[in-house]
Amino acid sequence: MKTETALAELTTALKRAHALGTVGELLGWDEQVNLPSGAAEQRAGQSAALAGAQHAAASDARIGGWLAELEAGVAGLSEDQRTVVKQARKDFDKATKLPADFVREKAVQGSRGYHAWAKARAADDFAGYAPVLAKNLEFAKREAGYLGWGGREYDYMIDKNDPGMTAAVIGRLFDELKRGLVPLVREIAASKVKPRADALRGFSVEGQKLFLREVTERLGFDYNRGRIDISLHPFCSGTGSDVRMTTRFKEHEPLDSLFSAIHETGHGMYEQGLPVAQLGTALGMHAGMAVHESQSRMWENQVARSRGFWRCFEPRLRAVFPAQTAGVSTEELYLAINAVEPTLIRVDADEVTYNLHIILRFELEKKLFTGELAVNDLPGAWRTAAQELLGLTPSTDRVGVLQDVHWSDGSFGYFPSYCLGNMLAAQLWYRALALRPALEEDFARGDFSWLLNWLRENVHTQGRRFDALQLAQRVTGEPLSPQALLRYLRERYGALYLS
Ligand code: ZN
Repeated sequence: MKTETALAELTTALKRAHALGTVGELLGWDEQVNLPSGAAEQRAGQSAALAGAQHAAASDARIGGWLAELEAGVAGLSEDQRTVVKQARKDFDKATKLPADFVREKAVQGSRGYHAWAKARAADDFAGYAPVLAKNLEFAKREAGYLGWGGREYDYMIDKNDPGMTAAVIGRLFDELKRGLVPLVREIAASKVKPRADALRGFSVEGQKLFLREVTERLGFDYNRGRIDISLHPFCSGTGSDVRMTTRFKEHEPLDSLFSAIHETGHGMYEQGLPVAQLGTALGMHAGMAVHESQSRMWENQVARSRGFWRCFEPRLRAVFPAQTAGVSTEELYLAINAVEPTLIRVDADEVTYNLHIILRFELEKKLFTGELAVNDLPGAWRTAAQELLGLTPSTDRVGVLQDVHWSDGSFGYFPSYCLGNMLAAQLWYRALALRPALEEDFARGDFSWLLNWLRENVHTQGRRFDALQLAQRVTGEPLSPQALLRYLRERYGALYLS
């Protein structure tokens, strides 16, 4: 068979498997947004049937044949074709190399793990959760072994989320970030400047919806190819021409709804910017979670917490909520938007301290995988690390090691993406500013198109051609580093809290 034919057959098969995967995502979205409570069991059956069909499509033996053929003739392939083949090989191995028994056991363990975690957190009982966590760790290591990552199990977990990234690279980046960030957080915590906690109260949900729609549309989210709905936890799913975002509304925390929605808008615009004709292959696939987070974080933080952005939207906010904003000055509003206050809880953390929460989890996770840290010693290690990094000691495990859901279903190696995304966002931001110094003037006029077009060209339309490290080098001319993030945090927050 000719290479061209093998490639065409492979692409068709990949697109079919991908289409089934996106139907699964739609079912998941529907479950969190629309599903009647009595329909949960029926939906579980639908989801399982679809997952089976998707797995069958992704593990079709003919894919292995086409891949073998293409790999044998790799010298004759273009760069783009090689990218497609390389990713398809990775996905095919994942779909075929894990024994069926293992996959089943792991799924059961994952759902058992979630319930064990929820119970342990409610009862503040780490000891009841420890055996589950130990088992999850064992499953993760076994999975890495099946896929040829024996001895580099934590790297495998990282690579699942961020292709090309390793624990050693992250360790170096995070150490450098920590050295600059810990003193900055201490300085801000000691500052006499404090945001007014009660500045923004009583914002009607209807008004918030109106304002949020106006903002996200102006940023560039295409509502002809996506929508926003309400769910308990905000998320973004779907891709290409059908992107589904969610947010939630709280009358006394309007900034929570707004910034959650802007964050998801960043994810959504990335997915809308992927080349639709290539969906299902690596060329129509996002470049990993760090790059994804760089997009959500840049719109949420660098853009939407800037003075320029608020020169445009403050008058609109005041027009929609005249009574609620009457007693709040421009400076008070801006400070509320950029509030910094160290907290023990990651999901409540501000933009500055957030990164320390991630470093804490990464360092412990890494030690769990190398065996330097035993599961039973986690609570103590957590308390020590929280004191060192955040200057706070959790009084109970509920606000310490038990706070996050991720490890309960074996999602290790996921946390670092959040912080790597922040680094990449800041680095891309300064590159964009160097190319267009008047960026904030654009924002003040309500024009975000230059930035979006630049990201479209350099990030979105590139699909999975480049991983986070390659992308940083290509787009900014520098290797990925925490220096841009440190500079950005010191510039923005230093001006507010330390002058
Ligand atoms: Zn995100």
